[in-house]
Amino acid sequence: MTKVKYYYDPETLSYKKIKVKPKEKITKAVSLVIAGSLLMVWGYFFITPFVRSPKEKHLKREIEYLKLNEELHAKRIAEMQTLLDELAERDNNIYRQYLEANPIPTEQRKAGFGGVNRYKKLENYSSSDKVIHITQDLDNLANQIYVQSKSLDEIVKLAEDKENMLASIPAIQPIKNNDLKRMASGFGMRMHPILKYRKKHNGMDFTANKGTPIYATGNGTVVKAQRSATFGYHVIIDHGYGFKTIYAHMSKMNTKKGKKILRGDVIGFVGNTGRSAAPHLHYEVHKNGKPVNPVYYYYADLTPEEFEKMLKASHEEGQSLD
Ligand SMILES: [Zn+2]
Repeated sequence: MTKVKYYYDPETLSYKKIKVKPKEKITKAVSLVIAGSLLMVWGYFFITPFVRSPKEKHLKREIEYLKLNEELHAKRIAEMQTLLDELAERDNNIYRQYLEANPIPTEQRKAGFGGVNRYKKLENYSSSDKVIHITQDLDNLANQIYVQSKSLDEIVKLAEDKENMLASIPAIQPIKNNDLKRMASGFGMRMHPILKYRKKHNGMDFTANKGTPIYATGNGTVVKAQRSATFGYHVIIDHGYGFKTIYAHMSKMNTKKGKKILRGDVIGFVGNTGRSAAPHLHYEVHKNGKPVNPVYYYYADLTPEEFEKMLKASHEEGQSLD
């Protein structure tokens, strides 16, 4: 049933029916439809953003959570980078220095991954830049950890070698302090007791009774155990790392050529054989084929005071015993 509308006619003082033409009716209906549609469009664009569906709310929370994660990861990566840098610093400046290995250059430690684009799969997303950046940082960290672990492997090997080297380098006195009468003569120009002229003395003389034990001063292999006119019964030990030691004028040898020797092994006894003026041990240390002052090779068993005393005695002028 259609609603009938009336209007008040002041001239006739009565209500009259409003007559609506069919054309007007259609126009009105169309206008209403258009207005309704416009209202819907407006509502969709302007109101929807403020009225979220539960799904949208959930997604928004998810995005916030991912952002938070991203920040945390970036922070953690930065912290790990700092730790790794400190480790690299220690590695280069302490471990590798001490073990006489070349430092690993920063460019090598921080070398990135070249070649094909590793991050292609991560491209074309709204947060691609950030994700690629974090992935790159993680790759770099992994690479640095790899370089560092290789370096530590090398360090372990070098340390084992160093231990071996420290055990081999001459580092004790060949005669015990208790057995020593005195340190008769040191390294350098000395009056020769038999030749009666000043001659370079290539070692140190330890005066002790005949038969006093003589100790190998470092690990090594006996390369000579024989008698000669000058040195009498003498033993030469090759310690490796460029070091050799000579023990001369023995009364008796206690080893033979080819024997493996440990520091502290008794290799012979003090005597007066060869060109010698009195029972003593003539001891030489050679480094890379040249005689060096043995006084610098007793660091393992001398206190600083003993060393100073020894150093002073070895520099005293006077004649040697051979
Ligand atoms: Zn001598």
